[in-house]
Amino acid sequence: MGFPDPYNAFITQCEPEKKGEGRLSGYTIAIKDNISTRGIPTTCGSRILEGYIPPYNAFAVDRVLAEGAIIVGKTNMDEFGMGNTTENSAYGPTLNPVDTSRVPGGSSGGSGAAVAAGMVRLALGTDTGGSIRCPAAFCGIVGLKPTYGRVSRYGLIAYANSLEQIGPMARSVEDVALLLNVISAYDSRDSTAVPKPYDHAPDPNIQGVRIGLPEEFFGEGVDHRVAATVYRAVERLEEQGAETVPCSMPSMQYALSAYYTTCMSEASSNLGRYDGVRYGLADDFRKHWHQAFQEVRQKGFGKEVRRRVMLGTFALSSGYYGKYYLKAQTARENVRADFARLFTMVDLIAGPTMPTVAFRLGEKSDPLSSYLADILTVPANLAGVPAISVPCENVHGLPTGLQLIGRYYDEERVIDAAYAYEQTTKKGG
Ligand code: GLN
Repeated sequence: MGFPDPYNAFITQCEPEKKGEGRLSGYTIAIKDNISTRGIPTTCGSRILEGYIPPYNAFAVDRVLAEGAIIVGKTNMDEFGMGNTTENSAYGPTLNPVDTSRVPGGSSGGSGAAVAAGMVRLALGTDTGGSIRCPAAFCGIVGLKPTYGRVSRYGLIAYANSLEQIGPMARSVEDVALLLNVISAYDSRDSTAVPKPYDHAPDPNIQGVRIGLPEEFFGEGVDHRVAATVYRAVERLEEQGAETVPCSMPSMQYALSAYYTTCMSEASSNLGRYDGVRYGLADDFRKHWHQAFQEVRQKGFGKEVRRRVMLGTFALSSGYYGKYYLKAQTARENVRADFARLFTMVDLIAGPTMPTVAFRLGEKSDPLSSYLADILTVPANLAGVPAISVPCENVHGLPTGLQLIGRYYDEERVIDAAYAYEQTTKKGG
């Protein structure tokens, strides 16, 4: 039963509901499986949460339901959001609808594939270090990571709290803006949520907008064909009246290490709750507690999750905390300072979303080479600033993404510039 899912985009399909009234009336939406849905299984792509049914909705889910959206299902993802291919899912990989021998990106790969394949109009994803923007780039759709705090994280199952945000994914900038509008209302249940609802319809006028092009976004490790399509996209923005400014972000050198040290540390603490008693895979309680916990976590967590819990625990351990975790926070501060400096000179920063096109299935079996592919997306999470990925030209038939990063709470300008670029691609010129 249910609908055909040739790309394995969904972990759970929902019963069709009655149509509600509101700004999303009749719009189908897919929800990433780390966002809590009342009465609907929520697994985070993990065995350890198999059979878990949340008793409440995430704030963002309540908002889309209140506006009449129809939830079609819960989408596949890298386990707990750890990855950029959706291959780290306990429920099998998702395939890229553009080329099924390739990954859809991750960790919100199921949401990206479902939107790209036209199975849904909208999707919610989450972005800790690029997980909305990466699948958007690889599948040829639009995805936005909002400013940290703009969307309540209430009901989002935590991976790395200080970095992650829920955000919209769709085939057009207009739909992304509408969905952001719906989910960005204030919520007192997330102490990091800020009362700044987004309320702006996209306007393609970008006359006089200054766009910085950091050399690090076009340098080592970035496929020159991807860099070339992004340069062409930026030229289109110049034709629309934007000005470009060459610049540099020296903190990029340490951004990836700072990101991975921070996210693994936070994950090691967040994932402590999965002991088989409070959540998941309840086992034989007559065993000694440490043996029982060990067995449950060994069985319930995949390889990448276990790797990160161990590395994160190490980075936080006494004697090493100063050497790793604290150092990462200093590097994070440098990334923030770099953005602050650049945003006194420019209004937006542009570059590729991902350094390459979508990987082949199985290509990123070495974890380090997978981590390296996040180099262009993690800076926005470390600083908490908003960033969008909007489809550029294809490279050999595969999508690429133009990434636009803005000042805190300046989603308006990010969205307007993405919209201006999208208009130029629509004219077919
Ligand atoms: N690929 C990054 C990671 O594995 C980002 C994932 C995400 O944004 N959830 O941590």
